[in-house]
Formats: sequence, C-alpha cells, structure tokens
Amino acid sequence: MVTIVKPRDYPIDLRQLEAIRRNYRFNDAKSLEIESEIINREMGFRGERQLDYYLSMITDEPIYVLHNLRLCGQNMYFEIDTILLSPFFCLLIDVKNYKGHLYFDQLLKQCIRTYKENKEGIQDPISQSEMHLYCMQDFWKNNNLPVTTFLPLVVIAFATTSVSTNQGLEKNLHQMVIHSHHLIKRLQTVYKSHPKKIFTKNQLQTISKFLLSKHVPKCPSAMKKLSLQPTDFHQGVQCPSCKLFSMIWKVAKWYCPSCGAISKNAHYQALSDYFLLHNPSITSAQFQKMMDLPTMDVSRRLLQNVQGLQKIGNTYNTTYAPKTLDWLSTDDVQNSH
Ligand SMILES: [Zn+2]
Repeated sequence: MVTIVKPRDYPIDLRQLEAIRRNYRFNDAKSLEIESEIINREMGFRGERQLDYYLSMITDEPIYVLHNLRLCGQNMYFEIDTILLSPFFCLLIDVKNYKGHLYFDQLLKQCIRTYKENKEGIQDPISQSEMHLYCMQDFWKNNNLPVTTFLPLVVIAFATTSVSTNQGLEKNLHQMVIHSHHLIKRLQTVYKSHPKKIFTKNQLQTISKFLLSKHVPKCPSAMKKLSLQPTDFHQGVQCPSCKLFSMIWKVAKWYCPSCGAISKNAHYQALSDYFLLHNPSITSAQFQKMMDLPTMDVSRRLLQNVQGLQKIGNTYNTTYAPKTLDWLSTDDVQNSH
C-alpha cells in the first residue's frame, strides 16, 4: 500500500517557461531556445510520471512516498526526486530522463551520452546519487532520526534508453542503475536482502511528516536562466480567443477590439504570469498600470474578487499575493474564461 505524502507537483520552472512562451513578443532565435527548454523540461516531467506509474503497482508493504523533497543540508540544499520509506529500508531514487545511449564509466566516474550521433559528457548520475546519499545520511543524523538503511538508486525513465559500462562491471552497474519498468522486481530483491523490520507504520508516518515539514520550495528563475528582460514581453491582457494582447476593460468586462471576444476573467492569466515571472505579489497601482485600467477603484475591485489571493499589509499599503505557489494551474485559468 503506497501513501503519497508529498505528490509530484507540476514543476514551477515548467510553468515559468510556459508563461515566458505566452508572453515573449519576438519571433527569433530566443523563441527557439524557449521552445527547446520547454520540450526538455516536459520530457523530464514525463519521465518522472513514468516512475509514478510503476510505483502505483506496489500493493504489499506500507510505503510512504515523497516526491521532489528539497532539504537543507549542512552547507547546501539537495533535492531527491523520489524517497521511498518502507518499514525495512529507505530508497533514494534519482530519475534520469535521457534518451539515446548512456555509457557509465565507473572507473573515471563519468557518464557519456550518445544521442542522434552526438556524444556529450553529462553529470554522472551515479556520483550524483552517491552525493544525495551522503547528504541524506548527514541530514538524518543531525535531526536525530531513528537509524535505517539507505539505498541509493538511479532510475532511467525511458525503456528505449540503453546503458553500458566498463567490461566486467556490468553487475555493479545493475546494482545502482535500473530502468523504471524494473522497479517492482528490484523492490522484491531488496525486501529479501533487508528482512529486518526497523519501523512501525506509526513511525513511518511520523518520519514522513517530519521530512515534509523540512521541505524548502525552490524558487527558480527561468527568465534569468534565459537572460530575458521584462521588456522582452508583451504588455496588457491577452485575448483568450485570438491570442493578441489587445483586450480593454469596458463596462465591467474585457473586450477584444480585434476579434470581438468578451471575457470576465482574462486578467487571471496575466496575473498568474506576473507572479510566475516578475514578482510574488502586486499592488493595485501596479495592477492598474499593467492592465491599463481606467481607475484605481476598478483595479482594487478586480484584485479583491480574484479567488485564492491574500491581502498583505494595511489599507494604505496593500499588496496581493497568491496563497499557494501553484496558484491558478493552467486548467483553472482555462476553465475560468
Ligand atoms: Zn481577440
């Protein structure tokens, strides 16, 4: 029985990239770069979801799962793709979404990826996984958590990705690197080699709750990564129908002079993108300017009526911020039009 303590959220950096694609106003080499970043990130997310499919098949022992848990170690943050807490051991999984062929050089501690005739060195997943193990053991000790056995594992998301290693070390590689479809089989082997029960169900619950409380959300900046400036984006409110940034506020509605579309909530998307890309909060004066609204009153009223925003500060200095980081998922925005 699997309990998901921390689900795998839609990645915030992917949401930022999608916001960038919506708002970027040029059609140039940078647009291609944005597009290729999105494809890579989507593939990564798809790979992680692939693992979830196999995890959902586990039915026997109680297992507590935390996805994308980011913890603060002694000197640095570290994030583990999936933690599997069982009564017998704790599996630390790093998911890799590379396509093509991966050659793990276990002697030189490096990894070479071949894809479409291109050869490139990538960060060695085994070394990374060992690093995570070290950080986790340290974290565990510093927080006086009851001792368990940690097992690091690299999971290759796609069945079509082939792997190889130094001659004679194939068995060794298989200990540390598996494909996601092999996960269930691997778990069965690990259960056999670790038969001693260490944790009760209650202890597992307490530990996983504690871990969750220590999660530090990441604040990535896709804009910074792509060297983009606020001036690279369209101004105003995008029309949900013709996609032009042309909407104007007229008689308590958004109206598109270009295609005639009418919307009550077209500003939701603009706000969501603003929070994702520019600032985690907004004042009514900033909102009025950004949306080109006729008065501060209209601006304030619109902000106050947006679901899921909280007011911060006093009457003279109010800012509005989303209550949660995943405020307005793309679906919510689409449904609100
Ligand atoms: Zn339109």
